[in-house]
Amino acid sequence: MKILKFGGKSLSNGEGIHKVVDIIEDKVNNGELITVVLSARGKSTDELEAILNKAVRSESYQKQLEVFKQYQVANYPSFNVDDEFETLDKLFEGVSLLGDYSKRIKDQVLSQGEVISAKLLTHILKEKGVNANFTDGRELIKTDGKFGEAEPLDKLSKKNVVDHFRKYNGATVNVVTGFIASNMNNETTTLGRNGSNYTAALLANYLDAEELQNFTHVSGIYTANPDLVPDAKKIEKLSFTEANELAYFGANILHAKTIIPLIEKNIPLRILNTFDHKNKGTLITAENDEKGIKSLSVLENVSLINLEGRGLLGKVGVDARIFKALAYKNISVSIISQGSSERGIGLVVEGDKAIEAKKVLEQEFETDFYKRDVNTITVENNVSVISIIGQDLSTFHRPYNALIKNQVIPLLFNNTISGKNVSLVVYKNQLHKALNVIHGEIFGVSKKINIAIFGHGLVGGTLIYQILKSAKKIEKRKKIDLNIFAVANSKKILLSKNGIDTNWRSDIIEGSSYGIEDLIKFADEHHLENLIAIDNTASKVFVDNYITLVENGFDLVSSNKVANTLGFDFYKELRLKLDEHQKKYFYETNVGAGLPLIDTIKLLHLSGENITRIKGVFSGSLSYLFNTFSKDDRKFSEVLQEAIDKGFTEPDPREDLCGNDVGRKLLILARELDLSNEFTDINIHNLIPENLREGDANKFLERLEELDAVYQNIKDEQKPNHVLRYIGDLHGDLFKEKGILDVKLVSVEESSALGQVKGSDSIFEIYTESYGDQPIVIQGAGAGAAVTARGVFGDILRLTEKG
Ligand code: ASP
Ligand code: MG
Repeated sequence: MKILKFGGKSLSNGEGIHKVVDIIEDKVNNGELITVVLSARGKSTDELEAILNKAVRSESYQKQLEVFKQYQVANYPSFNVDDEFETLDKLFEGVSLLGDYSKRIKDQVLSQGEVISAKLLTHILKEKGVNANFTDGRELIKTDGKFGEAEPLDKLSKKNVVDHFRKYNGATVNVVTGFIASNMNNETTTLGRNGSNYTAALLANYLDAEELQNFTHVSGIYTANPDLVPDAKKIEKLSFTEANELAYFGANILHAKTIIPLIEKNIPLRILNTFDHKNKGTLITAENDEKGIKSLSVLENVSLINLEGRGLLGKVGVDARIFKALAYKNISVSIISQGSSERGIGLVVEGDKAIEAKKVLEQEFETDFYKRDVNTITVENNVSVISIIGQDLSTFHRPYNALIKNQVIPLLFNNTISGKNVSLVVYKNQLHKALNVIHGEIFGVSKKINIAIFGHGLVGGTLIYQILKSAKKIEKRKKIDLNIFAVANSKKILLSKNGIDTNWRSDIIEGSSYGIEDLIKFADEHHLENLIAIDNTASKVFVDNYITLVENGFDLVSSNKVANTLGFDFYKELRLKLDEHQKKYFYETNVGAGLPLIDTIKLLHLSGENITRIKGVFSGSLSYLFNTFSKDDRKFSEVLQEAIDKGFTEPDPREDLCGNDVGRKLLILARELDLSNEFTDINIHNLIPENLREGDANKFLERLEELDAVYQNIKDEQKPNHVLRYIGDLHGDLFKEKGILDVKLVSVEESSALGQVKGSDSIFEIYTESYGDQPIVIQGAGAGAAVTARGVFGDILRLTEKG
């Protein structure tokens, strides 16, 4: 025997009731043995209560009652509800005359919803040829006399049920009213709101059913509410203990007491969807597989009350007074938190009870206020509770860190010791984001990384291409979902919550003009988590946004060098802000493009290795220029022109030749070693003769030959087997506040490491104390859009791995 329970939504007019009939017919045709337990249809119970409340105030309720009636008989004109409505009419009339009603009367009124519902379904099933039998729960379930919340008398109820089913068994489908019962005087009682679940569980218990199938309007229990968390997944199997935690924290489908009759007899409970009944739903059994975290449950409408007092330490009975005062007003507390200093206590109560709770506590502690033992009682209304079911404190740091990283700071958290449940109180406006962050972290479906890319020139454009191309593979392999939600140039921004696609170049033309605050607002409004801003511009002003971005939850990656070569004050301030907001800034491509240079130096330095000197060819364009000029017997201007033509230099090659770019890179490395050098400290050998430094680029390009004599001379004056290299050299006593930074043209032996560099490669020699005279050498392509974009991509991936 299986018990099928259908809730109000399943039984509503329209699709619902037809589906219910189909499901029952199907099972009967399959020869399955079933019993059906029903709620009232739609919102009938609420409506009956509303009408009752009108009647008691002697307001006119007839119209509303008529609407209610029409709802019950709609589409089934041959269905007779005269008896039920005669009863209701009498009850409402009496209440209206008396201006009062008891809980007993209320139970009589509400019970009609279930009676009509079960009678109607029996009627329809009979018309379809099913041998259905209307069964009034009041004749089976006997209870104590606590109207509105009656407790079943087990022995008697069981006997009634067993006897009834002995009479009506086999091919009969008993259609039982849920929720309603009767006391020993045969007066109607009810089992409390949502009580038909309880009726179904009791029947399952008494009849040793093989399964209780609870048909709802959702397809089971999810890892989180799918309306709030798009990535939420259905849970296939759950234990009663876990389900109990869920029930307690607001998943409406279950109530702790309904589970008990099932546990007692080891009867599984399946949550199914009337509107998608082929779906297997969620199965709840006694088996406790203890396999990790199951679900996130939310209490949305709650308030946090904080009672604070200096004089409370060691005072006995304060907590008892709080609870007694609240209990007196029937206010239930769902979360409590108190520190060992006993300076204050935080309580979570239902939102609509908060004002009353505060009032009651103020009354209770009136004299303590006076004595200054209690200072304040405050109420925070805009909060929600997230409970992580199955979570204990051994791995709680993971969701917690993820929240902090995303700037969601819980107001309070606590855990249950046995039930494996950690609950967090967060501001309501952060609930959505918090849920998604925790869900992404725990269920690891994949962690969403939301990226904003500024600058889509050569490097930026290539990066976007690379990310779009490999996003799927990365998601599969690393469970990281890289979502480019913004692309911007200096004028326009393209915003897309679910990520841009390959049409972004044409889409951005339609984009809107923006300020950085528009980006922040967008991320906020769409609850985007794990934010990264990428600066691939060469802009001197975009850097002004860095700190704002950090303050608003963005990690930073830049190929732009400006931020690291401005004044040391800014350098320090940025790092301070990063620390303060627990954000990271990666810029591996600032020196040597994609070569793993900065990270290597950082690690060496952090591990206490004394770096004594860093020397190398830092510029790809100047590397090409001097490598080729040293090797070939050609004019300097000719080689330079070739480098320009190949696109190795900036459009105005003086930007490379002046040495500032090499200087900046050298400065960035120096600062990695905690040296506080400024750009003006660098001794830069400018390769442009003084008379050619001013004037526009085209003029300069016409006069390249004027450089020939200078460099031919330098080349000829070298010792044998020597070549020219333009290098950066950081040396001096690197324990001091500042190092010596030289950018210069040198002549080195052809066979040395520097001498052997080819093409446009970069080379970096890192001298350290332990490695002695033998430097660590990092060499390879140190320029170009593809390798730089790859390097930026690497920084993004490194960021996703931290924390
Ligand atoms: N009809 C009752 C209620 O709305 C009982 C139930 O639906 O389970 O609370
Ligand atoms: Mg690099």
